[in-house]
Amino acid sequence: MRKKSFETNAIRAQMSRTTNREHSVPLYLTSSFVFEDAEQARALFADEISGNIYTRFSNPNNNELIEKLCLLEGTEDGIATASGMAAMYSSMAALLKSGDHVLASRSVFGSTHQILNTLFPRFNISYTYADIADPASWESKIMPNTKMIFVETPSNPALDIIDLEWLGKLANKHNLILNVDNCFATPYLQNPFAWGAHLVTHSATKFIDGQGRVIAGAVLGKKELIKEVRFFARHTGPALSPFNAWVLSKSLETLAVRMDRHCEQAHKLAQFLEQHPDVERVKYPFLPSHPQHALAKKQMRLGGGVVTFELKGGIERGRKFLNALKMLSHSANLGDTRSIATHPASTTHSKLSEAERLAVGITPGLVRISVGLETYDDIQVDVRQAIEGKI
Ligand SMILES: *Cc1c(COP(=O)(O)O)cnc(C)c1O
Repeated sequence: MRKKSFETNAIRAQMSRTTNREHSVPLYLTSSFVFEDAEQARALFADEISGNIYTRFSNPNNNELIEKLCLLEGTEDGIATASGMAAMYSSMAALLKSGDHVLASRSVFGSTHQILNTLFPRFNISYTYADIADPASWESKIMPNTKMIFVETPSNPALDIIDLEWLGKLANKHNLILNVDNCFATPYLQNPFAWGAHLVTHSATKFIDGQGRVIAGAVLGKKELIKEVRFFARHTGPALSPFNAWVLSKSLETLAVRMDRHCEQAHKLAQFLEQHPDVERVKYPFLPSHPQHALAKKQMRLGGGVVTFELKGGIERGRKFLNALKMLSHSANLGDTRSIATHPASTTHSKLSEAERLAVGITPGLVRISVGLETYDDIQVDVRQAIEGKI
C-alpha cells in the first residue's frame, strides 16, 4: 500500500464512524461504559477482550488521539495524560524501581529536574546529569544500575540539540531505555523512534494543541513498554480528559501547516535579531551560528518555533524589553498562535539554583520567544520597538 504522508495521516487517520455517520470525531464525555452482559464485564476486566470500561483506563477520544500520535511518531502504542509532566513522571515512575539510576541530560525542563532531584530520591531512585557539550562523558556515567536515559531535544529554553542517532546506539549497547521529550520538535519536525528511542514523551500543551487551550501530554512507545506505563496510569490516574483529547485530535489535523509557519517566522526573527546591534547573542537551531547546527539539520525537518536571545545590558535590559512589548504576550507558555515572550530565569526555571541555570545556558538576561502565527512584520515591529524603546 502507498505510504501516506504525515499531513494525510494527521487528517485521515480517523475513519471509523458511529451509526450517526458523523464527519468530525464525536466527543465521548462519559466516565464509564455499559457492559452487554455479565460475561462481557468479566472478560473485559480479565483482559480477555479489549474495550472501554472506565475513562480513567481508556476512552474513545483518548484512544483516537493516541492512534494518531503513534502513526505520526512511528510507533505502536501509548497513553494520553492530563499534562506533559504527568507523561514525564508516568514514563519514568512506571519503569523504574528503588535502586535504579537515571542518566539525564542536564538540559531538561524545570519540573523534570524537580522529579529527578527532589521526588525520586525519596524512592531511592538516583540520577546523574550529563552535558550536551561533552558527549564523550556520557558513557562513563552509565552505572550497573542505570535503567533509563532521559533527554530533551531541542531543550527548553537553551535550544541545545542532542545527537539522537548516537544516543540510540549508546542506549542499545547498554540495554537502557532511551526516553526523549519531543515537545519542542513535535512529531512533524523530528521522530526520535527513527533514531533508536524507546519512549517518546510529549507535553501536548505546546505546539500539538498550538492554540493555548489545554494542558495535556502523551507517552508513546512499543507495546511491551507501554503495557507497564498503562498499568501505572490505570491505577494512579493521570488520565487526560476526553474533551481535551478531542481538542488535540483536531489540533493534529493542522499541525503540519502550523509548524511550517511557526518555523518560517521563528527563523526570520532569529535572523533579524542576529543582525541587530543591541543583541548580544541569538540561538536558533537552523541558524549556522548554533553550535549544533549540522546536527539540527540532520535530525529535524525545520528549526522549530522558539528563538532565544540576550540583549546587551543583561537582565535589566531584558526586563525593559519584556515590559515594553505591546503585542507579544508576556506569559509562561509557548507553542501558541500568539507570540509569547518569557524570561526563564525568573519564571519557568526559577526553582533551579543560579549555578544550575548557568550550567544549562539560562543566563540572567535570556529571553525566550515562542513565535506565533501573527503576520511576521507585526511580530518584528513589536520586537524591534521593545528593543529600541521607540517605534
Ligand atoms: C512545558 C513542557 C513540559 C511540561 O508540560 P506540561 O504540559 O506543562 O505539564 C515538559 N517538557 C517540555 C520540554 C516542556 O516545554
